Amino acid sequence: MSVPLLDVNAQNLPLEAELKQVFENVLRSGRFILGEEVEAFEKECAAALGAKHAISISSGTDALIVALMALDIGPGDEVLCPSFTFFATAGSVFRTGATPVFCDVEPEFFGIDLASAKSKLTPKTKAIIPVHLYGQAVDMDAMTSFAKEHGLKVVEDVAQSFGATYRGRACGTIGDIGSYSFFPSKNLGGFGDGGLVTTECSELHEKMLRLRNHGMHPRYHHSMVGGNFRMDALQCALLQVKLRHIGEYSAGRTRNANYYTHRLSPIAGDSFILPAAHEHARHVWNQYTIRVPGRRDELKTHLTAKGIGCEIYYPVPMHRQECFEKLPEHSLSNCPVSDLLAAEVISIPVYAELVDAQLDEVAAALESFLS
Ligand SMILES: *Cc1c(COP(=O)(O)O)cnc(C)c1O
Repeated sequence: MSVPLLDVNAQNLPLEAELKQVFENVLRSGRFILGEEVEAFEKECAAALGAKHAISISSGTDALIVALMALDIGPGDEVLCPSFTFFATAGSVFRTGATPVFCDVEPEFFGIDLASAKSKLTPKTKAIIPVHLYGQAVDMDAMTSFAKEHGLKVVEDVAQSFGATYRGRACGTIGDIGSYSFFPSKNLGGFGDGGLVTTECSELHEKMLRLRNHGMHPRYHHSMVGGNFRMDALQCALLQVKLRHIGEYSAGRTRNANYYTHRLSPIAGDSFILPAAHEHARHVWNQYTIRVPGRRDELKTHLTAKGIGCEIYYPVPMHRQECFEKLPEHSLSNCPVSDLLAAEVISIPVYAELVDAQLDEVAAALESFLS
């Protein structure tokens, strides 16, 4: 039996009748940009996350850009972000004209390392982007006090962690702005691109509403330059259906992660490191990422030969990307843990709909490789 890394049909097809009905409703409404479905989806997202305001955005990448624009981040500013993340975190900063300054991450929980962040502060530092990587919350108490102490804005990159919590609060609702993605592989996976920003601040909410639609308010009057960062009404309508199941999706991922952790613990050690989960946070397992020092590529070949999907998230940290090679020295230096992780990590299937036989197959393949 082959086990794919992700099977979107296993999640979407059980909802087929409902999704078709929703498509038909939107088709007949003739309303495809903004409007009722968009507002309804935003309200439901805000309620699900316990956020005061939520705004749907064209993608997770655009959500980061809108967040940074709302905070007036631009040329001359520096923004701290982890080197070990998906490219969009860093690319969005760069595209505002600001300079991304890459910080190292901690090896156990994969979150941004605040000691590294501290060493990279300059008078130009305006904001920090903690990335809740793989579905796990960054230590937001430490993050919040660090940001306060140094007068920094906080944009949480929650693309991989919709529904994750930190001490009972949803990731994305603790910093100034939370930025989410509905890319099909994320925990709330859409039917194309989509994203969301959340904030507790009414002023930022108003500003981001305008930025999403060319900075326009009222109609054809532009006091600021925004863009077309709108998410389709159809996408919002379809995702309302899936949002009702987000609890099950998170629970399924958690069950699968717990299965691996329980079964593989006896063979874990220095050469095979299982992911750790904080006790005070709800991990939603967008990825189950193990570390295999020295033998990672060999394991990838082994799993692939057995028909088991796996992927390396991510093989090249941001401070090693060609497009960033001209950034200032302090942005690119001293990220040894990011280098290490890039050489050691591999993610295995953990999506909610995996059945027991598939979990057993993945675990057995890992056991056979390691023994
Ligand atoms: C997926 C992702 C994004 C970007 O989201 P898109 O919707 O694909 O634009 C941003 N940051 C992280 C950490 C991601 O994993």
